[in-house]
Amino acid sequence: MANLGIPRNTIEVLQRHNFIFQKKYGQNFLIDPNVLERVIDAARVTEEDCVLEIGPGIGTMTQLLAERAGKVIAVEIDRNLIPILEETLSPYSNVTLINEDILKLDIRELVQGQQGRPVKVVANLPYYITTPIVMGLLEGGAPLKSITVMVQKEVADRMQAGPGTKEYGALSLAVQYYAEPEVVANVPPNCFIPRPSVGSAVIRLTKHKTPPVRCHEKKMFAIIRASFNQRRKTLANSLGNAAGLGVSRDRVVEALEEMGLPAMVRGEALTLEQFAELSNRL
Ligand code: SAM
Repeated sequence: MANLGIPRNTIEVLQRHNFIFQKKYGQNFLIDPNVLERVIDAARVTEEDCVLEIGPGIGTMTQLLAERAGKVIAVEIDRNLIPILEETLSPYSNVTLINEDILKLDIRELVQGQQGRPVKVVANLPYYITTPIVMGLLEGGAPLKSITVMVQKEVADRMQAGPGTKEYGALSLAVQYYAEPEVVANVPPNCFIPRPSVGSAVIRLTKHKTPPVRCHEKKMFAIIRASFNQRRKTLANSLGNAAGLGVSRDRVVEALEEMGLPAMVRGEALTLEQFAELSNRL
């Protein structure tokens, strides 16, 4: 029976192994059974699923995942955690533990051979590399069904934001191109040991079966990046000045007018559909 998700048990394991937290690895371990349940429920894990967990820590969530999923692949960078994980996960024969940096792994290769099992990512992510991990998972083309992760609250808000808000930007559009985001819980710092200095949130990204817009992906994302590089500038000025895009300010104004948008519009006002249309017109 999984039993690590209460502070007393976590502390006992950490002390017995003389474990020292490594700040550089973003180690904030979950010690709240209700939050752990919330994450796993939000991911809708069933025994049909293979779960990829990034950063299992001492295996608190891994144990619960192993009890619900058909298979769990857990990738942990910190080799000091491996002997602990070997102990805490020893009752579970459906867990594969990999001591690696997730950013160096080919996720597509990793999840291949799951005999057609849907693969879900479930993790309490290390916050210092949230964006490269999430974008790598979305862009990498691995057959993932959903990604349910604990992230910094501010990052969850940016992923879910819509046009016209201050949180809206290149990350919102990139995430929403690949998936439908939904914040499912806000989590305060006292649910972790040690306490992080920021609030956290659980977000579920359900991958689209087909992209919601038709466009040349690379070109649209180059336009999106250039549009948000200088938020205070109009879209025509940002894109007209951007090196590498090869469009003139006049052409941008013309395209915006063709779309019924004012020449002075800023990037933060455009929806994903409008960015796709602009990219196709340019
Ligand atoms: N899942 C555990 C929990 O909820 O208690 C730990 C979560 S902690 C926020 C993040 C975990 O990710 C740590 O165990 C850390 O060592 C690990 N980690 C950090 N960078 C990593 C990387 N590049 N690849 C794999 N794991 C990493």
